[in-house]
Amino acid sequence: MGTRVRVGVFGAGGRMGQTVCSAVCSDPSLDLVAAIDPRYDGIDVGEVTGVEGCSFAVSGDLQALIHANVDVAIDFTHLDAAQKNLAFCAENSIHAVVGTSGFTEADEEGLRAKFTNSNCVIAANFAIGAVLMMRLAELAAPFFETAEILEFHHDNKIDSPSGTAVATAERMARASVQWAPDPTTKETIAGARGAKGPEGIPIHSVRMRGMVAHQEIILGTAGQTLTIRHDSNDRSSFMPGVLVAAQRISEVPGLSIGLDGILGL
Ligand code: NAD
Repeated sequence: MGTRVRVGVFGAGGRMGQTVCSAVCSDPSLDLVAAIDPRYDGIDVGEVTGVEGCSFAVSGDLQALIHANVDVAIDFTHLDAAQKNLAFCAENSIHAVVGTSGFTEADEEGLRAKFTNSNCVIAANFAIGAVLMMRLAELAAPFFETAEILEFHHDNKIDSPSGTAVATAERMARASVQWAPDPTTKETIAGARGAKGPEGIPIHSVRMRGMVAHQEIILGTAGQTLTIRHDSNDRSSFMPGVLVAAQRISEVPGLSIGLDGILGL
């Protein structure tokens, strides 16, 4: 086996960060060598994440990545934090794997200019099934004139619609120009037809206790409908995508949006 990739995790104490630390520690090709989270500064990573066999202090200081000689940093934090973290990675030639939601196209262009000495992938959804769902929706779009997206998430999610729903709608809108107009002329209760995404594709957000992250895309044309559905029942669903991105990001130059390039789709 080649040299193990040295990994740092931003947001190590968060819901996703803890799962990422555990997945990295279980992967024989990766080494967890740094964990950044200001909320847990100075506390042992094992105590913060519950991961056994790994012991060093979580730090609130980005310099810990330099001291640990990190090759790849993984970020599941919040948008404003991620922007600072990524600027630091670009300045210090550290590759970045980013799951934090909320980056605009303007943010992405800024990052494209910054990541010249190291690479970065930002993915709205690291679940490989969800990556395929988005690709399949894009392939199907030119064959159907109507489509609606329903996304379902846990009741702690504060933003809507989900980044995955927006990314799906953007890709479907780019893949076809033949979208039928909405027939609704009277909405008795405002919002009944959902939010209008790109090309008017309606997006409906459900927030429900007991759910994790789910999405359904219904496409319709004369006499038939096609439903594409993906369910993440557990945060572990995101880990194979995160790990493969950490393993391969050094080979994919510049900024990548979505996992498609990394998976060869
Ligand atoms: P969370 O609030 O549980 O965790 C965020 C963690 O980041 C916290 O522990 C916080 O202390 C830490 N943090 C804050 N500022 C920081 C900084 N400057 N440096 C380092 N750490 C910092 O949130 P979560 O549920 O784990 O979600 C994190 C992000 O991941 C969200 O944007 C969410 O939408 C996204 N997400 C993406 C995917 C995907 O597949 N792309 C999947 C699930 C969640």
